[in-house]
Amino acid sequence: VSYYTARIVNHTHLNAFLETFEAEALARAEEVQEKINNGTAGKLAGMIIGLKDNISFKGHKMSASSKILEGYEAVYSATVVNRILAEDAIIIGRLNCDEFAMGASNETSYFGPVKNFADETKVSGGSSGGSAVAVQADLCFASLASDTGGSIRQPAAFCGVVGLKPTYSRVSRYGVVAYASSFDQVGPITKSVEDAALILEVIAGNDCHDATSSNVDVPAYSQFIGKDVSKKKIAFIEETLHSDGLDPEIKQNVMQQIEKLKAEGHTVEPVSFEFLDYVVATYYILTTAEASSNLARYDGVHYGYRSPASTDLMSTYKKSRSEGFGDEVKRRIMLGTFVLSAGYYDAYYSKAQKARRLIKDKMDSILEDYDFIITPTTPTPAFNIGEEITDPIVMYLADIFTVGASLAGLPAISIPSGNNKAGLPLGIQIIGQRFKEGNLLAFSKCIE
Ligand code: GLN
Repeated sequence: VSYYTARIVNHTHLNAFLETFEAEALARAEEVQEKINNGTAGKLAGMIIGLKDNISFKGHKMSASSKILEGYEAVYSATVVNRILAEDAIIIGRLNCDEFAMGASNETSYFGPVKNFADETKVSGGSSGGSAVAVQADLCFASLASDTGGSIRQPAAFCGVVGLKPTYSRVSRYGVVAYASSFDQVGPITKSVEDAALILEVIAGNDCHDATSSNVDVPAYSQFIGKDVSKKKIAFIEETLHSDGLDPEIKQNVMQQIEKLKAEGHTVEPVSFEFLDYVVATYYILTTAEASSNLARYDGVHYGYRSPASTDLMSTYKKSRSEGFGDEVKRRIMLGTFVLSAGYYDAYYSKAQKARRLIKDKMDSILEDYDFIITPTTPTPAFNIGEEITDPIVMYLADIFTVGASLAGLPAISIPSGNNKAGLPLGIQIIGQRFKEGNLLAFSKCIE
C-alpha cells in the first residue's frame, strides 16, 4: 500500500486517481497480512485495486466524474466490491473516468483528462482512462472498470495493458452507475491475462440484486491458463482491414499477429461482416436512448448537486441538471430523448433494435464456425489531448471495433500488441463465444 500510495503522489499530474483511501487501505493491509500469516487469506489477498469512479464503495464518495454527483457518498457497496473484499483485495482509491462513462478519451470528465503514461501529450483512452493509466503507470496492481461500448478495452489498448469485458450478464451491475443497462458490464484492467482471469473468477456470477445477472456456472477461469494448447479456428473481419481511418501501422500490426497465429498452426480465415458500417450508429442510438432514461434520476433532489439558484421544483430540476451535467452528457440525453420521442421512435429506436439483432445473429453465426474473432482494438493509437474532443462524430468512430461485441453481448479482451514507431502501445481485440471467457483467456495467454 505504501509503495503504491507513494507512486500515486509522484504521479498526480497524470490525473488518474480522484481520491486515495490510504489510511483505510493500510489498516486493511494489516488485517490481510494476519490472514496470510494464519493461512486463511482469500484469492486476492494483497491485491491493491483501484475502482473506476462509477462503482459504489459504501461510505466513500462516488461521482461518475460528474459535477452532478458532487458530495454524494455511496450508501451501499456494489456486488463486485463486496466480492473482491471477501477475497481480501485492498481498495486503494477512486479512478477518474469520462463523465458517466460517456467518452473515448477521458476528456469529458469534470475533473479533467487523464494523461497517457507512455506520452503525456496523448489521451489515456476512455471512458476508463484512470483505470488504465493507474495500471500502466503502476499506481495500483489492477483496477475494476466498466465497459458499455469499449471503455475497458480501448483505454487498455492505448495504455498497453490487458482489459477484459465479460459476456453481458456475467458480472452483476448492482451498485454500478447505469449508463446503458443492456450493455454495461464490469471487468478488470490488469498487467497480465492471469490476473484478469483471477479477478473475473471472483467478481462473476449470479446476484440476487441484479435480475439480469446470469446463473450460468462460474468456472475457475484462472485454471484455464496454460492448459488449452489445441489449435484454434479464428476469424478476422475483412471489412476491419479496409475501414476508413484505420492507421497503417495498426493494420500492419494485426496482419503480423495473424501471420504469427498461422505459423503456430492455428487456422485464421477472413470472414465478411457486412454490418461494420452500421455498428457505431446502432450503438449510439440505443445507448443514448437508455442513458436518457437512466440519467433522469439526477434531478437535484435525490443525489449530489443542487443548484443554489433553484427557487421551486421545476427550477431545481432545470438549473441543477443544466449546471451539473457536462456537454457530452447533455448531448446524449438530447439524442436519446429524440430517438425515443413519439414521432421518431420507429425511425430510430426500433430500427436500431432490429439492427442490433442482425448484428448479434451475424456475430453468433461466425462464432458457430470459429472459436474467436480477432480485430484491432482501435483504429488509431492514442491521439493528442484536445484533438478529437471538439468533434463528437470523430470521437464516436473511435469505437468502431469495440461496439460490435457490446451490441452482441459477447466477451472480448484487449491485449497488448507491441508499440508503434512513435512508442505508443497498440492492442489486439479477441472476441470469444458467449460465456466462454475461460477459453478466451487461455487463448489470450498464448499470444500475450
Ligand atoms: N466510447 C463509448 C461511449 O462513449 C464507450 C463508452 C463505454 O464503454 N462506457 O459510449
